[in-house]
Amino acid sequence: MSSKVTACPSCGKKNRIPASAAGTPRCAACKAPLPWVVEAGDGSWGDVTEQATVPVVADFWAEWCGPCRMVSPVLEQLATEYAGRIKVVKVNVDQSPALSQRFKVQSIPMLGVFDGGRMVSQQVGAAGIDHMRRWLDGALAAI
Ligand SMILES: [Zn+2]
Repeated sequence: MSSKVTACPSCGKKNRIPASAAGTPRCAACKAPLPWVVEAGDGSWGDVTEQATVPVVADFWAEWCGPCRMVSPVLEQLATEYAGRIKVVKVNVDQSPALSQRFKVQSIPMLGVFDGGRMVSQQVGAAGIDHMRRWLDGALAAI
């Protein structure tokens, strides 16, 4: 299973965070909820997203997409602000043709909120943090 190292926003301790796990990750030192940003593709989508016990914010992106680079730090910030409540999943569309087809990804960045693997809200195109926060709050309230 893939994992990555993330520094705790509260105390700075580096924690190794798995791509899929029950519940949500917490800092080993101070127990603060940690931002959870992972990658998924055609093969790992089921484990990473459909089995997640918190809503997933998926980011469908590609290397060559300029607006995707603008939305990426916004998502990192949301992952920090909503730590313990959401999981951010990055999907490289060039490496995930089946997912791109399944979710009809035609324009990127495409962002989707998923509850148990079902897409409940969608946002196409880059947006600033204020807009993204409102979009996410609205989507989470409807779950
Ligand atoms: Zn900590």
